[in-house]
Amino acid sequence: MFLNYDSVADLSKAIEQPLEFPDKIPVKVFIKRLDLIHPAVSGNKWFKLRYNLIEAGEKGFDSLLTFGGAYSNHIYATAAAGRECGFKTIGLIRGEEHLPLNPTLEFAVNNGMRLVYVNRTEYRKKNLPEFEGWINKSFGNVYIIPEGGTNLLAVKGGSEIPSLIGSEFDIITTACGTAGTISGLAAGLKGDKKIIGFSVLRGGAFLINNAKRLIHNYSREDFNNWSINLDYHFGGYAKITRELILFIRQFEEINGVTLDPVYTGKMMYGIFDLARKGLFKEGKTIAALHTGGLQGIAGMEEKINGFLVS
Ligand SMILES: *Cc1c(COP(=O)(O)O)cnc(C)c1O
Repeated sequence: MFLNYDSVADLSKAIEQPLEFPDKIPVKVFIKRLDLIHPAVSGNKWFKLRYNLIEAGEKGFDSLLTFGGAYSNHIYATAAAGRECGFKTIGLIRGEEHLPLNPTLEFAVNNGMRLVYVNRTEYRKKNLPEFEGWINKSFGNVYIIPEGGTNLLAVKGGSEIPSLIGSEFDIITTACGTAGTISGLAAGLKGDKKIIGFSVLRGGAFLINNAKRLIHNYSREDFNNWSINLDYHFGGYAKITRELILFIRQFEEINGVTLDPVYTGKMMYGIFDLARKGLFKEGKTIAALHTGGLQGIAGMEEKINGFLVS
């Protein structure tokens, strides 16, 4: 019933491209195109899901259940990966149903995901034991993947990312939403090189604690070569500014690489801004992860265009 999981994503497609920026900066930056490994299970989401899918299959589950907002890259990826690997999928979506479905949720439904809407008050309880009881009562024996896909199996998957990078680098960067991916990078590098995460959330200090806990629980070690920068959230999760959108457009014109405004655009702006302020040692090489997320642009088009005409 279950596929060979290694045939889902094509890791050889994750090319490494040198980048140019609007102003000269004293470091070299290249981008690792994890967004190209699969049309829907793109970027970091494949790495976070992979060992969860294997575990679910080995334990005999036929359904996956997970959580997310209405524009979630994780919901989108789980629907697609679940279908390819032969699982039924259930998405508990924060908030009320809005019809017609937005492009993210329409894709999820077209890939067989059953959507169940959970109001915001209930949604906040999603990690409590009572909530898990409710899930099992309502949906039976389902393999539960936390919001954003972050658990220790996601850390395991993420720990394999650094070894896929063929070019030399001193620093690796990722956007952080739950800190699962940065924890994987730290676990994989085991104290080698430097890792910088960029929080895409306002009030992202809790991400540092999340990462500490995940890294410790996975590796049984605490590494000190990683940090999470909290300065480039642009107002909060999925909040954008005209400056950010113009940067993303200019970056795309120069490099031919599309970034999303929720995650990778904020990270790349952060790299550029820190570099032009001289906050990296001259001559260092940065590997910036393109963690995908381009599906989310469709749901933000109106907001983005609003900035460009005004
Ligand atoms: C989910 C996501 C992230 C955040 O990853 P975490 O492991 O939750 O920190 C970063 N970039 C993109 C494009 C994402 O979809």
